[in-house]
Amino acid sequence: MIIVLRPHTPKAAIDEVIAEVSKLGYEPAPIFGVTQTVIAAIGDERTHQNLESLTALPQVESVLRVQKRYKLASRESHPEDTVVDVDGVKIGGGHFVLMAGPCSVESEEQLLSTARSVKAAGATILRGGAYKPRTSPYEFQGLGKEGLRLLELARKETGLKIITEVLSERDVEHVAASADILQIGARNAQNFQLLIECARSGKPILLKRGMSEKIEEWLLAAEYILAHGNPNVLLCERGIRTFETYTRNTLDLAAVAVAKKESHLPVIVDPSQGCGRADLVLALCCGAVALKADGLLVEVHPNPAEAMSDGQQQVDFAAFKELSEMIRPFLAATGRAGW
Ligand code: PEP
Ligand code: MN
Repeated sequence: MIIVLRPHTPKAAIDEVIAEVSKLGYEPAPIFGVTQTVIAAIGDERTHQNLESLTALPQVESVLRVQKRYKLASRESHPEDTVVDVDGVKIGGGHFVLMAGPCSVESEEQLLSTARSVKAAGATILRGGAYKPRTSPYEFQGLGKEGLRLLELARKETGLKIITEVLSERDVEHVAASADILQIGARNAQNFQLLIECARSGKPILLKRGMSEKIEEWLLAAEYILAHGNPNVLLCERGIRTFETYTRNTLDLAAVAVAKKESHLPVIVDPSQGCGRADLVLALCCGAVALKADGLLVEVHPNPAEAMSDGQQQVDFAAFKELSEMIRPFLAATGRAGW
């Protein structure tokens, strides 16, 4: 933090602020200018009191935060891109990944046929919800443990890594025993106890942005995971709720560009929840790749019209194959030709 004093503050009043900074547990480093003095306060804000209270002193003009609130997630603290290694599948730092699969795991036939098809199109990670966060309690809630078993079966058969959502702290242990990546959904994006529990599992975590979460809050949620000792975080933009009604959510591609600037963590884009319309998914994927997203999370279903959740936004096998080819020029243009 930097404390800016008013011009021509007398020495005694400067010393008073210096003493206050020390009292609050920081090391004061004053810089004396010709007319104005600033004091840098060095210390960890997590364990010390907030210095903003110093603005109550009449000689203090402002208190500025020089470091980001998200320290570990910031590029300031870690200029190089982080590469998350999911059991041999690298994500970030020029490594692009396609994650695809149904919104919900529905049956062995549905999951295995999808797994084979998305693998043939270039996906290396299979998505599928076993525990589904549904708006209505009367809608399909997912197959639970049976869904996890089917995901494991699909991994065994295809070699794809698997990502699936964890809905509650209660489920972390057994979901982590099956999955290669834990997904934290938009509705749990700021469920900090769940974030901490997932962090402790040691598994890579894909953290969705909340429906009305600011970018700073999203990065601070990632900070919870990093601060609890788990460096393998994937940020996922999945659209935010706005006044627009032609799309389910407004996919915030600017947030992808901001997150890539502000943070070293890989950024994944979910165009499916992002717009809620299968007919727009391809275009949004191209846009996301052009913005240097490190991966895509796409909902794919053998027969979207019969899907038990999110049918309107899932693409079929042919559309996914087309998509995987259409993104290639955008990958090449952004230096990911090797994909
Ligand atoms: C999903 O991926 O199917 C899902 C429920 O995502 P979100 O949490 O982004 O709504
Ligand atoms: Mn879905």
